[in-house]
Amino acid sequence: MADIIKLLPDHVANQIAAGEVVQRPASVVKELLENAIDAGASTIMLVVKDGGKVLIQVVDDGVGMSETDARLSFERHATSKINKAEDLFSLNTKGFRGEALASIAAIAHVEMQTKTSKQELGTVLKIEGSKVVSQDLEVVANGTSMAVKNLFFNIPARRNFLKSNQVELRHITDEFHRVALAHPTIAFSFYNNDNELFNLPKSNYRQRIVNLFGTKTNEKLVPVKEETQVVKIAGFINKPEFAKKSRGEQFFFVNNRFIKSPYLHHAVVNAFEGLIKANTHPGYFLYLEVDPSSIDINIHPTKTEVKFDDEHTLYAILRSTIKHSLGQFNVVAPIDFNQDQNLETPYAFKNKGAELPKVSVDAGFNPFQENKSKPKSVSSYQRESTLGSKSWEGLYVGLESKLGQVSTANSIEFESDVITGSIFDEKQELASYASSTFQLRRKYIVTTTKSGMVVIDQSRAHQRVLYEKFLKNITVKEAVSQQLLFPLVLSFIATDIQVLKEIKDSLNMIGFVFGKIESDTIEITGVPIMVSETEVGMVLEQLISDCQMKVTGDNFSQTDILAKTLAKTLAVKTGEQLDSQSQQALVNDLFACKEFKISPFNKKVYIMITENEIEKKFI
Ligand code: ADP
Ligand code: MG
Repeated sequence: MADIIKLLPDHVANQIAAGEVVQRPASVVKELLENAIDAGASTIMLVVKDGGKVLIQVVDDGVGMSETDARLSFERHATSKINKAEDLFSLNTKGFRGEALASIAAIAHVEMQTKTSKQELGTVLKIEGSKVVSQDLEVVANGTSMAVKNLFFNIPARRNFLKSNQVELRHITDEFHRVALAHPTIAFSFYNNDNELFNLPKSNYRQRIVNLFGTKTNEKLVPVKEETQVVKIAGFINKPEFAKKSRGEQFFFVNNRFIKSPYLHHAVVNAFEGLIKANTHPGYFLYLEVDPSSIDINIHPTKTEVKFDDEHTLYAILRSTIKHSLGQFNVVAPIDFNQDQNLETPYAFKNKGAELPKVSVDAGFNPFQENKSKPKSVSSYQRESTLGSKSWEGLYVGLESKLGQVSTANSIEFESDVITGSIFDEKQELASYASSTFQLRRKYIVTTTKSGMVVIDQSRAHQRVLYEKFLKNITVKEAVSQQLLFPLVLSFIATDIQVLKEIKDSLNMIGFVFGKIESDTIEITGVPIMVSETEVGMVLEQLISDCQMKVTGDNFSQTDILAKTLAKTLAVKTGEQLDSQSQQALVNDLFACKEFKISPFNKKVYIMITENEIEKKFI
């Protein structure tokens, strides 16, 4: 029989390989971004049109390629990243197979522009379906621009298999997230059909996460850090209460490469056990560093799966590290982790229907009396763990003696100030009947008055109280500061540090004490008494963004912005349960305010319903 084995022509071999490397536009995005990173780029731009079907372009400012390398880069198994087999065991580049460009060029129209800093002119190379169409020397920027057009133009079956532009864009965005998260010190931008989707400055891990997923993310993050001989773990987990119905923000990086690992995922989920509801998923951004020779990333062409030498040890270390972080940052009460039924308590409590808090009526209550000996609340005062260490009572620590003063000051005002009769009456009437309260739908505090009832919006009321307090602190300069046991070092991007410096004096006045301020970190040694340590990052973040929105400089408006932001961020929210003592304290504080009728944001704080109105409803 005649010999029948033939060698496949290169372009056919490349097309077959392409099937493995390029499943969809997102795969091209991944390969091109990784090449740009391997080229040492410090700024990378991604441009996509129609979900990547029409165009995927990656522009970098990396080392670029010589004329010969430019041409060679499209050959199969052409790589600058390994020389010998042993190199495979000490890899610190993303690519090494030398397959990506050859595969992409086999199934698309590719235009590459590239230049090293040593060259005068760069190379412009056009390839369509593995065929070089043109190669020219031209004036181009240093670095490389790779434009991939009409993906799968020569494989209609694959092209038809692609999903809608939206779905493909979703996959591309996922890929972009992964790469951007792994490399916070590289600046990235991402455009889709000429709209800027992301513009990420060079920063650090925390800031990168926040820039990608929004300012709100900052308050959710709990740092994770551990160093053992086997592995270094860094990164963040989301607080358990932010667990989501959908899996979403779950990221593992090993040696700065995104990986999927159901096994390690299980270790994380296991550490959260009992802290999150069934069918919800914890968020995490975990960066593992291991000896490159202890892993094998070669087992899958798209390289998101990794084989570890010692998976069991890794599992155990990861699980205990996360448990430790959850405990240390007061995310859960410090309890014995072995007693799992204890961990369920907060949720068991959460699932209970709305329960009327006990109402205690103090007939002899006098709001103007100095309130020195606040009795400890006997009612079950169980605030959910969302609040961390910021307990309602904590808000009043150090203020107790001042509470009295405020009331006294106000009672003097009553006599000396000219106040219209109606306000005077209303205020006095409200103040003297605030001793019996109950909470409605964890949103309102209801209390009775001589002529009816008052329904108070708890969040707005507390905003008003805090706002006046902060304003007073700023103007009277009598803030109470709480010294931190260990100074807190927070990272910010340079522009944020600039804003912080501008508002630093006002921040000092409300109780923040700063240590060293570097170009991208600040040290905090003291915080206002009502700000808990875990909230500092979030509060400062909010202050910076609010100050950036408004024009800073003008001292009056600046203090006003600060007071408003702090009030908004720290006030109790709708949905928070308050025990009756806290309710009463809030009501009393509210009516000791100058402008108790409206919130700092000009919203009504309470409504009154008179007995008359109630009676009418019974007719
Ligand atoms: P691999 O990344 O596995 O080496 P690729 O096919 O992705 O294989 O790339 C082939 C080679 O082309 C790389 O090894 C590198 O030398 C060069 N190259 C690709 N993209 C770039 C880029 N953006 N900047 C500089 N060189 C690049
Ligand atoms: Mg590559």
